[in-house]
Amino acid sequence: MVFENTQKQLEKAKKHVELVQETEETLKYPTEAFTFSIPVRMDDGSLKVFEGHRVRYNDARGPTKGGIRYHPGVNLDEVKALAFWMSIKCAVINIPYGGGKGGITVDPHKLSKAELEKLSRGWMRKAYRIVGPDRDIPAPDVYTNGQIMAWMMDEYSIIKGEYSPGVITGKPLSLGGSLGRSYATALGGYYCVKEAVKKMEVGKTVVVQGFGNAGSHMARLLSEDGFKVIAVSDSKGGALLEEGFDYDKLMEVKTKERRVDSYPGCKKISNEEILELECDILVLAALENVVTEKNAGNIKGKMIVELANGPVNPEADDILHKNSKFLIPDILANSGGVCVSYFEWVQNKQGYYWKEDEVNAKLLEKMVKEFNATFDIHKEKSIDMRTAAYVLALGRIDEATKDKAIY
Ligand code: NAD
Repeated sequence: MVFENTQKQLEKAKKHVELVQETEETLKYPTEAFTFSIPVRMDDGSLKVFEGHRVRYNDARGPTKGGIRYHPGVNLDEVKALAFWMSIKCAVINIPYGGGKGGITVDPHKLSKAELEKLSRGWMRKAYRIVGPDRDIPAPDVYTNGQIMAWMMDEYSIIKGEYSPGVITGKPLSLGGSLGRSYATALGGYYCVKEAVKKMEVGKTVVVQGFGNAGSHMARLLSEDGFKVIAVSDSKGGALLEEGFDYDKLMEVKTKERRVDSYPGCKKISNEEILELECDILVLAALENVVTEKNAGNIKGKMIVELANGPVNPEADDILHKNSKFLIPDILANSGGVCVSYFEWVQNKQGYYWKEDEVNAKLLEKMVKEFNATFDIHKEKSIDMRTAAYVLALGRIDEATKDKAIY
């Protein structure tokens, strides 16, 4: 159960930070968890009902914020866990939000475009009751994209009778999206790696597990900066090329063949093998719980960057820490995505849009500041980077909870 992992991480961090009882108690439960059915008229005329979710976890610091996932494995336990992590993540990167998450239990690849649109609008027709520009602001996550955000924003605007771009982020530029948002998660992770290599000796070979939105941009940014990406994977399998991939060619293969292991001359490897390759930096950019107590001892990457949410379970965390791996945790490493989502929301609210280099410069400032704040706690308290990021975030949530003096 993924949600259980969040509570284990929380328990571990609580040993290093003093929290008022109100914060401890409220962080055990989501503020709201909403499960609903979405009926969709399919292309063949039949009616199919899908299950949708939206969870607002902790809103002490502001409206809740977090993506919507379309995946056959989506369930309330997972959505709750992801919403919890969003609460912590928004506090780590210090943006004025709480955490939320949503999803639909579906394999979107099996739907036509028209069915996908009806499903996405259907999600918003139910979820509009708990989302809103000052209440809860969704964004893309696994297997959702700008087009889906556009349909959802439009549906919300129709229901409310007013143009409401601030209800959702990750939108296309034509509908109030922000420049730089499409690659912000990877860019934030890349900025973390750049800060980390200033502090320690790390080589240049990189393995990227999960060549999707986050993972492919990370591979691009690192390749452009002289790192050597020697292995990549997607849901269909992995590809290894000791001399390093040519990024443009890799992207071309992925776009055309829809799988990375069709890259000419590469060695096909399994999704398990890729994690255990000899490398300097291992980027985890697929789904949760891929590094567990079963394989953590075999991980050879010296630095581990969690672009995905929750890829390393708590038992594996302890093993990696014992083996002196430097792990940049999800709540910091992938926070660039929500940070630029926040910038998009700010731009929507003021109706004035920033240049791409302005967005990236603001992101750089945030990432450098919070990476170093986390690193300092990690050093001062001799705790792993994840626990340090929790300590930083919990302190901020605690302050807001105390200042509200609620209930
Ligand atoms: P995506 O759907 O674009 O990519 C996911 C990729 O993982 C796909 O290429 C898929 O084929 C691959 N994959 C699935 N199962 C795999 C497996 N077993 N082994 C290897 N690859 C596998 O999604 P994304 O937006 O890139 O998200 C990836 C992760 O990053 C998720 O955990 C998501 O929550 C997290 N994340 C994304 C963003 C963002 O802005 N996109 C922000 C924060 C966190």
